[in-house]
Amino acid sequence: MRDVLTWREPAPPAGTMGEPLARGRFGEYGGRYAPESLVEACREVDEAFREAWADPGFRGALARLLAVHAGRPTPLTPARRLSEALGVELYLKREDLTHTGSHKINNVLGQALLATRMGRRRLIAETGAGQHGVATATAAALLGLEATVFMGERDIERQALNVFRMRMLGAEVVPVTTGSRTLKDATSEAMRHWVGTTGDAYYCIGSVIGPDPYPWLVREFQRVIGDEARAQCAAELRTGVPDHVVACVGGGSNAAGTFAGFADTPARLVGVEAEGGAGAARGRLGVLHGCRSLFLQDDDGQIVEAHSVAAGLDYPGVGPEHAHLRDLGRARYVTVTDDEAIAAAVRLARTEGIVPALESAHALAWVIRAAGDGDLAAGSTVLMTLSGRGDKDLSTLKELL
Ligand SMILES: *Cc1c(COP(=O)(O)O)cnc(C)c1O
Repeated sequence: MRDVLTWREPAPPAGTMGEPLARGRFGEYGGRYAPESLVEACREVDEAFREAWADPGFRGALARLLAVHAGRPTPLTPARRLSEALGVELYLKREDLTHTGSHKINNVLGQALLATRMGRRRLIAETGAGQHGVATATAAALLGLEATVFMGERDIERQALNVFRMRMLGAEVVPVTTGSRTLKDATSEAMRHWVGTTGDAYYCIGSVIGPDPYPWLVREFQRVIGDEARAQCAAELRTGVPDHVVACVGGGSNAAGTFAGFADTPARLVGVEAEGGAGAARGRLGVLHGCRSLFLQDDDGQIVEAHSVAAGLDYPGVGPEHAHLRDLGRARYVTVTDDEAIAAAVRLARTEGIVPALESAHALAWVIRAAGDGDLAAGSTVLMTLSGRGDKDLSTLKELL
């Protein structure tokens, strides 16, 4: 299916991707839909985050952790051979080169440091394929915190190696046996568990979802991607600012962090979702996991399970800020199929010597398609966030290729 190009003019008001409105609203989305004890816990996280984010000491400590532990700044790599073949100038922001192999580390180091500042001794997290769980277990080990990771029983079976990795890092992995026994249920269970332990534990959420302040807080911790890329583009791109900025969207954290660096520029922002997890492109208004946003639902309003070859895109909704950016016309959301993503992964491996995560391959698949059908004008400059490396997907790819 071909997506129709609709850019709304004039540009949306200045301040897009600044602080949310009162009560964590992004337009009609967001909010804090949670039981009373969690509303109070979220208020405490909000207050602590505002203080920390305004404190140069906290910012400096986080910047140092990102540099000496996670390997930032990550490079901006021109994809020379692929660019030539596609007729556009494609640059890759290399989150795959961070410690643990994806952008998730940016967020968990920020939240773990915040938890420490709040005097909490334990991190609670949900995980699907295990990527966020591994990142959380890593940050907890680094800062001397405990970690409890909730994971659906089905995912535990499918991702045995990541379960072992979390345990190796000292985390407790708790199997979730409710519902479809996957990410959606693990998230619900993690939030339920937090209710009884808010004084001692900090809930470390993995994407720009959940009750206020999480969508905003996670975007701010991921904004390092966009801020670095903005400066790198200014130094290295013929056009200074890229014509297009592209990222894959599961919950939407790597895209939100990337977009944040370019929200006040003329760059066109494109979020690429999995065909089977297209919350922004096809979702309907609903409330899940503490916020109002767009979710895949059936006619009765029941949440529909997402399906994608990329585990990180297997979420039935999208963060509230993306829903808002879509309504504003500031960003466009498109979808690609599993097959397109797999083909794109192979193509990047063979033209640039980089095996991307299957999530990131979705973003690339759209670039390849759009360069072919004219959605990307010949010669345009494109910044794409390569959210992670493909090592975790090699066994999947081995089965499919
Ligand atoms: C988790 C993950 C994603 C999807 O999460 P977002 O919050 O949408 O960024 C994308 N890429 C990789 C490599 C991931 O691990």
